[in-house]
Amino acid sequence: MTDFHLARKRMVETQIIRRGIRDPAVIRAMSSVPRHLFVEEAFQDQAYGDFPLPIGSGQTISQPYIVALMTSSLRLTGVERVLEIGTGSGYQTAVLAEIAERVVTVERISSLVKKTRRLLEELGYHRVACHLSDGTLGWKDSAPYDAILVTAGSPEIPAELVEQLADGGRLVIPVGTRRHQVLKRVTRDGDRKNVEDLGGCVFVPLIGHSGWKEEEL
Ligand code: SAM
Repeated sequence: MTDFHLARKRMVETQIIRRGIRDPAVIRAMSSVPRHLFVEEAFQDQAYGDFPLPIGSGQTISQPYIVALMTSSLRLTGVERVLEIGTGSGYQTAVLAEIAERVVTVERISSLVKKTRRLLEELGYHRVACHLSDGTLGWKDSAPYDAILVTAGSPEIPAELVEQLADGGRLVIPVGTRRHQVLKRVTRDGDRKNVEDLGGCVFVPLIGHSGWKEEEL
């Protein structure tokens, strides 16, 4: 039987800390969120491996290192209101919820929203709101956000998401082609935006109004 506690400790040491993630809040969050509960039972013994895993509906839970890299790139201090686009399994949502004040998460696949909403509730993540919607339009009702994280690859930076950032807020999003993207951090400075490249990555497509069109895939 897998010792999940030990597997998680090893994951944090070898995949997160050893690869240069220093943010203590991210290390603490990933040391405590039970990743194996966010994957199907058949994959539980692989949950702490150095790779993404299927979560149904053709979607994936991201590799642990990517979750750590994206979360630390948001530069959270604990007081933020965060918007996540692409709830999926809810693992990244839980990591954000361990650190931030409030998390709003949006997913376009209804079966994933139902399943994930229930799991996050059961695990006690009560400061999270899960919505079924096209996340390329953001979630206006709770805007502005101090940080926005997009966990699917987009052909462009959706203007609606930049508009929903607070002044000084950070948007982290993979932008590129269907097969390869560059992780970008957009920092809002009044009406201007400062864009930094954080490195290459590969994500499932962001599908919607300001993402890929289903017929293009
Ligand atoms: N963060 C997730 C986790 O920890 O399991 C992984 C997310 S998976 C790589 C990307 C997710 O983005 C999928 O669940 C997909 O359905 C969702 N997605 C794609 N386009 C979307 C859109 N326009 N709005 C909301 N979610 C979207």
